[in-house]
Amino acid sequence: MKIAILALQGAFAEHEQMFRKLGTETTLIRNLDDFNSNVNKSPSSGVGWSRVVIPGGESTAMMRIMKDLGLFAPLRQAILGGMPVFGTCAGLIMLDKAHLDVMDIKAKRNAYGRQLGSFNAKADFKGIGEVPMTFIRAPYIMEAGPEVEILASVDGKAVAARQKNMLVTAFHPELTDDTRIHQMFVDMVANSR
Ligand code: GLN
Repeated sequence: MKIAILALQGAFAEHEQMFRKLGTETTLIRNLDDFNSNVNKSPSSGVGWSRVVIPGGESTAMMRIMKDLGLFAPLRQAILGGMPVFGTCAGLIMLDKAHLDVMDIKAKRNAYGRQLGSFNAKADFKGIGEVPMTFIRAPYIMEAGPEVEILASVDGKAVAARQKNMLVTAFHPELTDDTRIHQMFVDMVANSR
C-alpha cells in the first residue's frame, strides 16, 4: 500500500515521517504527472491506486497552485470516485463545500482568533481515545451534513470528522508523536479496498 501526500505547499514532510513510523510507503505529489502516475488509477488496475493526504498549510495558496497545475478537477474526481483522502488543517478546508466540494462540511477558517492562533489540547477521539492535538491558525467544522460523523470536538466545536472515504482533522496529528490517527487512515484505506 502506498500513500500519496500532496506536496504543493505546507507541512507534507511531517506526514511522510508519520507514515514511515507506521511502515507505510509514501510518495509525494508535486504536479499533475506525479498524480497521474501514482494516484489516478482505478482500483481494478491494481498498480498505482493510491490514497491521498492533503496537509496543513495555507488553503488559499494551495487552492491556487492546485488550479494552476490542473490538479483540482482530477483530484476532485478521484475523491468522488471513492479514493481515500485524509485532510489536516488546511487540508480539511480544501475538502469542504467552498473548495473541492467533496465533503458535506463547511469550515470556518482561522477560527480561534489572534490570541488562540496556536494551541495544544487533549480531547477524546472516537474509536481511539484521548489524543494530543496541535492547532495552528486552525479551522473548525461549523456545519456538517447528515452523512458526516463527528469524531472529536474541542470546546464544543467539531475538529475531526469522517464521511465515507474522507477523514479530516482541524489539528495537526503529524506534529505530535502519536501515530494513532494516521494508523486509523491506514486502516480505513485497507478496509476500503
Ligand atoms: N489558516 C490556514 C488556512 O486558512 C490553515 C492553517 C494550517 O493548515 N495550519 O488555510
